Amino acid sequence: MKLFGCTFASPGVLRLLAWAGPEKLRNWAGNIEYSTDHIETATSPQQVQDCVKAQAKLKALGTRHCFNNIADSKDGFLSLKPIDQVISLDPAKRTVTVGAGITYGKLCPYLDEKGFALHNLASLPHISVAGACSTATHGSGLKNGNLSTAVSGLEIVTADGKVVTLSRQQDAKTFNGLVVGLGALGIITKLTLDIEPSFTMSQYVYEGLPFSELKDHFEAIESSGYSVSLFTDWQNQRINEVWIKSRMDQGQAFHATPDFFGAKLATRNLHPIKELSAENCTEQMGIPGPWYERLPHFRMGFTPSAGKELQSEYFVPRQHAIEAILAVERLHDQVSPSLLITEIRTIAADHLWMSPCFGQDCVTIHFTWKPDWPAVRRLLPIIEKELAPFDARPHWGKLFTVSPAELRRIYKKMPDFVELASFYDPKGKFRNEYLDENIFAC
Ligand SMILES: Cc1cc2nc3c(=O)[nH]c(=O)nc-3n(C[C@H](O)[C@H](O)[C@H](O)COP(=O)(O)OP(=O)(O)OC[C@H]3O[C@@H](n4cnc5c(N)ncnc54)[C@H](O)[C@@H]3O)c2cc1C
Repeated sequence: MKLFGCTFASPGVLRLLAWAGPEKLRNWAGNIEYSTDHIETATSPQQVQDCVKAQAKLKALGTRHCFNNIADSKDGFLSLKPIDQVISLDPAKRTVTVGAGITYGKLCPYLDEKGFALHNLASLPHISVAGACSTATHGSGLKNGNLSTAVSGLEIVTADGKVVTLSRQQDAKTFNGLVVGLGALGIITKLTLDIEPSFTMSQYVYEGLPFSELKDHFEAIESSGYSVSLFTDWQNQRINEVWIKSRMDQGQAFHATPDFFGAKLATRNLHPIKELSAENCTEQMGIPGPWYERLPHFRMGFTPSAGKELQSEYFVPRQHAIEAILAVERLHDQVSPSLLITEIRTIAADHLWMSPCFGQDCVTIHFTWKPDWPAVRRLLPIIEKELAPFDARPHWGKLFTVSPAELRRIYKKMPDFVELASFYDPKGKFRNEYLDENIFAC
């Protein structure tokens, strides 16, 4: 492996070499072999600045959990993995400031110990906060915005190597354009996140919810918990599993009865893919636990999801939820053979320019695919055609075939984003093929 221009303290580099292994550098799923294995690891913001100044082109790499080439580079990567400290916690302002390399898996137990929580989490805690927020990563909940809605401050090293500090309060005109930055604006070195008092949750799973019930009671089902996930293989006109995560505070606890809109209360912990062991999954059966051990589906220290898989996801305005779900259901004969599981979630609207929930409450239809790209590549345009009437927006970090022109049409703030990115990175130091094709070529 070659190292590029700026050389840093060797321990950081060696750590990453060990992590990458002798194989070519790949994303978590292994479906993307990155276009270079030139990689540096910064152990301080100063090293980030030195590296940015020394390089004509480079890309920040988080925990590599995206399924497409959004994080790819032909030139060189910069990992901030060792910059993973909690820098400060302000109980009065209810904020925490963290180094950009931190994962939710590290941050959340710290916050809980101090009596605080984040408003929501993705299905897994393994991902970096910077990478997750840069791609509008989300959990579920009618009233819960995606994870990047918690960002109230950013420190970014821009293309000229300067440190820029920005906040929701003081940079109101552009901040909403910066948060879901798709890695295009600079290297994030610090993030400040909104926090709230810690809370306890419980999780119940129901099996076999008929689509007819979902159709008639979608709002009631989705509002039965703080965060609700529906898993289906699109077979037999039913949702296989309903995961209801409820807060125990403020009288919000879910009172489990044996029957839930025709679905039956599970009698043991389940994996979203029923055939897989639930050992990887967070505790269910109504056992109370801390927020960070109930909001994700998968436990830190265990393989999340199936491991060998591909993923795609589409955000649909919530008023079209049922129509969109039924549109995909009509494709079940084509979809099911390539599918491991679908997850349906809800997310609240936000004001972040490049968030798929910009200006619209959403329902998301997610596909965990078998690792067969030719089959998935054939299916995606078929699904996207069915969802096009609803202006469905694809997840930035998952696989899609929506055209750049269509992306520009459905992301109304894209021209503003391009202008903002060009201001901070006029020569395209942080651009790659993904950004050139999907954002800047439009
Ligand atoms: C098993 C599994 C489950 C998942 N579950 C969910 C889910 O529940 N909800 C959901 O929405 N998504 C989910 N995802 C998708 C994924 O986690 C996110 O999209 C997220 O971006 C991954 O973060 P990362 O740190 O791995 O980012 P990477 O893939 O490493 O990078 C993503 C982007 O962020 C940029 N970036 C990273 N760090 C920085 C930085 N310091 N400064 C500037 N830019 C930076 C990169 O350049 C790149 O453009 C899942 C993925 C997997 C593999």
